[in-house]
Amino acid sequence: MYEVTVEAGFSSGHYLRNYRGKCENPHGHNYKVFVTLVGAELDEAGLLLDFKLLKQVMRPVVDYLDHQMINDLKPFDQVNPSAENLAKYFFDNTATQLDEMTHGRVKVKDCTLYETDSSFARYYE
Ligand SMILES: [Zn+2]
Repeated sequence: MYEVTVEAGFSSGHYLRNYRGKCENPHGHNYKVFVTLVGAELDEAGLLLDFKLLKQVMRPVVDYLDHQMINDLKPFDQVNPSAENLAKYFFDNTATQLDEMTHGRVKVKDCTLYETDSSFARYYE
């Protein structure tokens, strides 16, 4: 199998509901997200997916969250904006777009979301 990974960053505010500790008060993070794709077949150019295309797929998701209070944005007005839920959000949004783009040839393997340099959550199916 082949894998490719692209990293993107965004700076946003959040707070956690139903949580006792530092993250219950509004504060910001310089988030980093890594989206990894997997597939058994390359295209005619020998690529699983052009990095540029994966960046394009991630861009609207990143732009939606960047420099926002994430708790004000759907679905995070209902769903807690934890690193875990943000990782799943990236997974779901990029997987839908990639399915259409590659007709199932390329899948999202996992999304890893760093809240700090030393703390991250990963989502995969
Ligand atoms: Zn936090």
